[in-house]
Amino acid sequence: MRLTKFETVYQMTFMPRIFPVNCYLVEETNDLTLIDAGMDFCGKDILKTASRIGKPITRIILTHPHADHVGALDSLKANLPEAAVFISERDSFLMNGDLSLKPGEENTPIRGGFKKDLKTRADVLIAEGDLIGSLRAVAVPGHTPGSMAFYDTRSKMLIAGDAFQTRGGLAVTGDMRILFPFPSAATWSKRQAVQSAKKINQMDIRFLAVGHGNVLENPASLINAAIRRAEAKLPRQV
Ligand SMILES: [Zn+2]
Repeated sequence: MRLTKFETVYQMTFMPRIFPVNCYLVEETNDLTLIDAGMDFCGKDILKTASRIGKPITRIILTHPHADHVGALDSLKANLPEAAVFISERDSFLMNGDLSLKPGEENTPIRGGFKKDLKTRADVLIAEGDLIGSLRAVAVPGHTPGSMAFYDTRSKMLIAGDAFQTRGGLAVTGDMRILFPFPSAATWSKRQAVQSAKKINQMDIRFLAVGHGNVLENPASLINAAIRRAEAKLPRQV
């Protein structure tokens, strides 16, 4: 595991060379918030990192419940029974195994791998604008219908889950990058993903952090270019 610190946020990267998977520990005055729970084998290193920082993990937030973001959730919850688990209301259905679409949603199938034997359930359902410690929740539907990003109001880092990928070149999710096609292949709505990227582009972001790939500093011009590229590939709407 590779550990990188960005002011108030620690990025933990598993398998950085082959299939990079990131989880984040956000440091608060007395405790830590974990964003995403990686793959099954990541739990021990996440707990070790928290104990090195010297603060307890009291909150576990999920950007979305794909298998590579909830892999260690059950084992972490067993070690941290007091930690509250947060996810958007919409994606709590996916977390609980219900992949059906809701009225009004774009009629394309929800894609990607889910952990069928996941036992942990959410304690808190979050919505746009909710504050969790220093993090503000930002709804970024597209990769999944209920995907959420989290904005650290101190460091101006946006932890965007799979709304973007930076491995293989910055891309809006759904815009396939040949060097790392996986997040794109797991994306529900490319059109919604572009809308969410435009919403993110309105924010004052110093660091863009994602589920797969390195953190980008001062990403505004790269985000602009990624949106143009993704938008150009969308089918015309009639
Ligand atoms: Zn995903």
